[in-house]
Amino acid sequence: MTAWSHPVPRYSLVLAGLCRFRVEEVMRDVPFPVARVSQLDYRHEGGEGVSVEAQPLADEYRASALELVDLLNLEPSSHTKLKRLLSSLPDHTLPDTLTSVLRTSFTEQLSVLTAVDLPLRYQAAQPLLNRQIAALKLMKQGPREDKSNDGGSPRQHRRGRVLQIELPRGRRGGREGEEEEEEDEMKELQKRIEKAKLPEHALKAALKELKRLKSLPVQFPEHSVARNYLETLLDLPWSSSTTDTLDLQAARLTLEADHYGLQPVKKRVLEYLAVCQLTQGLKGPILCLVGAPGVGKTSIGRSVAKTLCRKFHRISLGGVCDQSDIRGHRRTYIGSLPGRIMAGLRTVGVRNPVFLLDEVDKLTRGGVHGDPAAALLEVLDPEQNSSFVDHYVGLPFDLSKILFIATANSVATIPAALLDRMEVLEVQGYTSEEKVEIAVRHLLPKQLKQHGLTPDQLTIPPSTLATIANNYTREAGVRGLERNIGAICRSVAVKVAENRGESGKTTPTVVTETMLGDILGPQKFEHEVSERLTRPGVAVGLAWTGMGGEILFIEASRMPGSGELTLTGQLGDVMKESAQIAFNWLRSNASRYGVQCDVPKETDLHIHFPAGAIGKDGPSAGVAIAVALVSLYSRRCVRSDTAMTGEITLRGLVLPV
Ligand code: ADP
Repeated sequence: MTAWSHPVPRYSLVLAGLCRFRVEEVMRDVPFPVARVSQLDYRHEGGEGVSVEAQPLADEYRASALELVDLLNLEPSSHTKLKRLLSSLPDHTLPDTLTSVLRTSFTEQLSVLTAVDLPLRYQAAQPLLNRQIAALKLMKQGPREDKSNDGGSPRQHRRGRVLQIELPRGRRGGREGEEEEEEDEMKELQKRIEKAKLPEHALKAALKELKRLKSLPVQFPEHSVARNYLETLLDLPWSSSTTDTLDLQAARLTLEADHYGLQPVKKRVLEYLAVCQLTQGLKGPILCLVGAPGVGKTSIGRSVAKTLCRKFHRISLGGVCDQSDIRGHRRTYIGSLPGRIMAGLRTVGVRNPVFLLDEVDKLTRGGVHGDPAAALLEVLDPEQNSSFVDHYVGLPFDLSKILFIATANSVATIPAALLDRMEVLEVQGYTSEEKVEIAVRHLLPKQLKQHGLTPDQLTIPPSTLATIANNYTREAGVRGLERNIGAICRSVAVKVAENRGESGKTTPTVVTETMLGDILGPQKFEHEVSERLTRPGVAVGLAWTGMGGEILFIEASRMPGSGELTLTGQLGDVMKESAQIAFNWLRSNASRYGVQCDVPKETDLHIHFPAGAIGKDGPSAGVAIAVALVSLYSRRCVRSDTAMTGEITLRGLVLPV
């Protein structure tokens, strides 16, 4: 008998049974079982043919198998292939092979496996095949047959008929039990439909699906598809919602209590909520919080939900490249599911939650089913979203009661049409001092609680927190800082747990800066700015990155050569032009700064941007390049505590970024 495990992520295992055997004695169990067995049948039993006694049974079985193939509605080419395959299987392996692919229960399969004599095996396998054929024929007749029913539910009638013919003797009891169970479940579903307070169109669809479900035998894949669909319909919050309790005063307090700093964002969120309260609706633009990772965007969304007493759900859009992620797959696809919006509604169970659309800037195109941004636009558009149709659900659902908040790391990659619908709210990164403040007030207490510790057991003084923020993380937000605090908590939790076991007492741990090396490992970032600025020709620029921002060193040097200007550090065209502009500006203004900077034939000028492996572009380094050059030619060092950014023009104007 052949068995295969279905596509699990990476491997499929194909096992082919060679013969039947009986275990006589188990000789050991571990690491794997070893037993003495006796072989019961042989693969090539009786040569190619079967015994005279078994032949008529084998012929009947093969004929039925071919009939089954005819019923399968296959494409002509697959149909021919499958028939050819069946004809090529020897008589004595046919029942084993076929039983393993039919819809049969485990006990039924076992009954075929334990039949060692071929005639017995055919007798066990034939009814299973017949049952499948009868069921397929029934399916082909379609649901209209329900009406010609003579008493009893259509389901009872049909299944009864199939089973009466096919079931091997002695197994009726089990099947009837199963059937009763089925009946009960159908009744339960019926009750759920009645209770669910579905709007009319959904009620109609649900009843229709229930009827279909009843007419489908359980063994059929369509049965579970129909059932999943019906359950999805019933789980959707068609009418349940929470009551908004918006008290602006309380909202202000919640936002303050949950977040340190972020004043402009809090102010704007409060204004937004106030307008919602006054207009009794949420028809305004969608708020889009833009900022580096870990600056508290999600956390603000959560607070908004909390102040409104609404449920909160985060929908991550990072990497979504297909419309069907948003809008679901049509049910004709095997394993189709509703899209993320409907799935989210199903999870929260109310129709007016706060949905945080996380990382709208990470939507990509490229799926085969269309642009996800277009689908999202429909979700957000107040003109259209009161009757949003998910492909899987197939019925209009009102999304207008949902409060959507979007987040993004950068505005640049948000699809323009989406950006148009949103009001962008910048969430700035934090300074080192602010990070320490956030850690003291929020992150440390939160982590202590999560690790079951109290402030008596673990203290991390602000100076240590500052060292973690500066030397173990380099980020605009505080996520890395929080992770490191978590790591400290874990290591202290081990000590606390061990000590408790021994003496019942705990010794308080104060984490000093010197202990950080042991707990967190060597420092990951050095702050070497002042050391690098000890020579003329080096200036510090500012660069934007996905993590917030970085300082960027610009080095210029002169050397004997043939009058060439070299630029290195993977610079884009715009950046190269800035360097040219900066240099020419300096040449034309050299006398004003008392420097001599023609490129004489015998010197080369080289400008380099370290971290050479990372591509850089944009005009904003212009001013820093100019300063580096002035420094080089005037032989004066640049201040080590200032970094600069701005586009420079030929006339020496510095434009804001
Ligand atoms: P984002 O969504 O911007 O990537 P999160 O909201 O997930 O970031 O924030 C990461 C962690 O930092 C959360 O635990 C959050 O509570 C905390 N956090 C960020 N900013 C602040 C702040 N201003 N005050 C208090 N906690 C903050």
